[in-house]
Amino acid sequence: MEEALRRAGKVSRPKRARTASNTSKSAPAGKAAVAAVAAGALVVIGFQGASASIDSSSAEANLFKARYAAPPKAVEMLPSVATSDPSAELSKLATGQRVKDERVAAESEARAAAEEAAKKAVKAAEDARKAEDERKSAIRGAFAKPAEGRLTSGFGARWGTSHRGIDIANAIGTPIRAAAAGVVIDAGPASGFGLWVRIQHADGTITTYGHMNTITTRLGKTVAAGEQIATIGNRGQSTGPHLHFEVKLPGGRDVDPLGWLSARGISV
Ligand SMILES: [Zn+2]
Repeated sequence: MEEALRRAGKVSRPKRARTASNTSKSAPAGKAAVAAVAAGALVVIGFQGASASIDSSSAEANLFKARYAAPPKAVEMLPSVATSDPSAELSKLATGQRVKDERVAAESEARAAAEEAAKKAVKAAEDARKAEDERKSAIRGAFAKPAEGRLTSGFGARWGTSHRGIDIANAIGTPIRAAAAGVVIDAGPASGFGLWVRIQHADGTITTYGHMNTITTRLGKTVAAGEQIATIGNRGQSTGPHLHFEVKLPGGRDVDPLGWLSARGISV
């Protein structure tokens, strides 16, 4: 490398001798200055071998800086475990309190939600009970005794023939009521009955009322359970004032009215 530098100096010397403006041509340290510049360049590229024969004090300083500049910073970066910062402690306490407050709030919220759910469950049970009571009440109100009076004849065989209903005896003019809600499908004269009224109910069952003195409803009318439709009479084939009452199921079969009424909470 020194050989290379000397060669470079020899080559450049004639040029500098002819150039008046070049201040380094007559300086005794001209060669050293060139070497110092070269050494600086070598340090930059990391070639340390040349530094021994040249003025390398600044280069060594650069190396020292490069090697030891970082460690002091690393020391500064060590965590200050021993120090106690009051504001940091307060901050920690505040954070702890906030976490505690949040937990208390969450617990309170969960408790409120549980209480709300319990209230809803109680209300749902009350509503269900109320609905059931209303349903039972509606069933009780859905049927009615066709007429007050004395049962004088039951359903079935009678006088060698079949009695297709029951007879309830009472004074002429006693109210006759619809046994259940329905639509009046007959209201007027009928053979053997004198006058009759027939009501068809929601399930298709038909109730028949006969021998009445007067009809107080009309054909096609929708009637409620217990609504008066006629008055007791002695018309048609009758041996005294009474109501003849029949129940015909949707299939057309006549059933004992006492059993049908009894199953619906009505006793005659
Ligand atoms: Zn009868």
